[in-house]
Amino acid sequence: MSETPFFAQVTANFDKAAAFTKHDKSLLEQIKVCNSVYHMAFPVELDDGSIEVIHAWRAEHSQHKLPTKGGIRYGLLVSEDEVMALSALMTYKCAIVDVPFGGAKGGVRIDRAKYSDGELERITRRYTFELFRKNFIGPSIDVPAPDYGTGPREMAWIADTYAQLADKDVNAAGCVTGKPIPQGGVRGRKEATGRGVYFGLREACDIAEDMKALGLSKGLEGKRVVVQGLGNVGYYAAKFLQDAGAVLVGLAEYEGAIADPRGLDLEKVMKHRGETKSLLNYPGATNLPRSLDALELDCDILVPAALENQITDENAPRIKAKIIGEGANGPSTSVAGDILLAKGVQVVPDMYLNAGGVTVSYFEWLKNLSHVRFGRMEKRFEERAFRKLLMTVESMTGKKLTEAEMLSAASGPNEEDLVNSGLEETMINSYQQIREIKMQHGAKCDLRTAAFINAINKIVVVYADLGIFP
Ligand code: NAD
Repeated sequence: MSETPFFAQVTANFDKAAAFTKHDKSLLEQIKVCNSVYHMAFPVELDDGSIEVIHAWRAEHSQHKLPTKGGIRYGLLVSEDEVMALSALMTYKCAIVDVPFGGAKGGVRIDRAKYSDGELERITRRYTFELFRKNFIGPSIDVPAPDYGTGPREMAWIADTYAQLADKDVNAAGCVTGKPIPQGGVRGRKEATGRGVYFGLREACDIAEDMKALGLSKGLEGKRVVVQGLGNVGYYAAKFLQDAGAVLVGLAEYEGAIADPRGLDLEKVMKHRGETKSLLNYPGATNLPRSLDALELDCDILVPAALENQITDENAPRIKAKIIGEGANGPSTSVAGDILLAKGVQVVPDMYLNAGGVTVSYFEWLKNLSHVRFGRMEKRFEERAFRKLLMTVESMTGKKLTEAEMLSAASGPNEEDLVNSGLEETMINSYQQIREIKMQHGAKCDLRTAAFINAINKIVVVYADLGIFP
């Protein structure tokens, strides 16, 4: 494993990209630094009556746009360095996908599996209270979301706690995203990051010229895929990739990995894991007791979707995948990135590829501020307009659609349709922007560097308008 601190790795990647630009040094420094970090320690009563002191953080990397935005992670490896690095990635990620937020990230240093539901609720509510006290949460200040180890339930506790504290804030629901639908969540948020990973990889694989350079055919169909981590991001990425015709040849979780070159059926594997509490010993598959070995399996696309620092200078030389789709944040170290570039591996970087979550979080925040469900105003209107149009075509051609055909052709979009379509549009446009920058800068510029350049250029424009820097 790499010893270089995570934030320093993000900074190293930033510096690599900054060297391709001509921006003022002090302005680049202002973009790069982490603006604010809050470390809190608070007592929580456990079910047995004892008290435990919990350590937690929230970092706001850049307030060049407000609110700041970023997930909350529950894990034993959470540290100040980690939240700073992840908050920085959020700043660049938001810029890349044109989501008008600064970057933030939070974390609570706990092994969530060791706590009861009641204890987790007390930890989450107290964490929210601490954020509120220091002005680190609010729909116009800083808006958390789910990340590793958290999900809709934790977001609902955060929203409820905030609403009690800010009882005069009509926009209180917009203080956090990734909420359950009845608490103001948006349809499609749960699957959004994995769906975005799929859209991004589909876009990359659809460019015949790039695939040819990698010795691959165009399209996702038949591509051999390995996924590490079957949580929110990894599970949905694997599902959408499999639905699109990709073949899952390896799946990894923390207890071990399984491989089968003929393909693994995701739902059957999940059922097996649910029943046996392990991926291992899945019928017909080969066991890899050392989970990390899955990263070195023979495949076309490797999707690390668990945690940071998985592909390092130690294992990068043995990676066989032609494409790495970074579902997790920071899965490859900066040195590993250089090794992969030299090997001709195409890394589709985290700050672009997993931006589906923040994109749909942005839609959820907009929904909360506008207090109306997407599609509510236009669905019926559009249905009627489509129907009129089709009836005109019918009368002109003398042909008649069945009612079922009419219904399918003339249905107006619902909230989920609109969210998924906005996400697809974002992932396609952002990929094209990054690829174009990469093409402009030649062989030394990989997609990650191009993504950083894109983010830096967009953030510079915001600062330019302030008139502070030369
Ligand atoms: P999650 O907690 O839902 O899932 C993580 C999964 O990885 C779990 O199933 C866990 O058991 C597994 N895992 C842990 N250690 C592992 C190991 N050593 N080998 C294999 N599997 C391992 O978390 P998530 O929300 O899916 O987040 C995963 C990554 O994606 C994180 O880096 C996170 O920052 C990033 N991310 C998440 C979102 C989101 O919307 N949830 C958005 C952007 C980025």
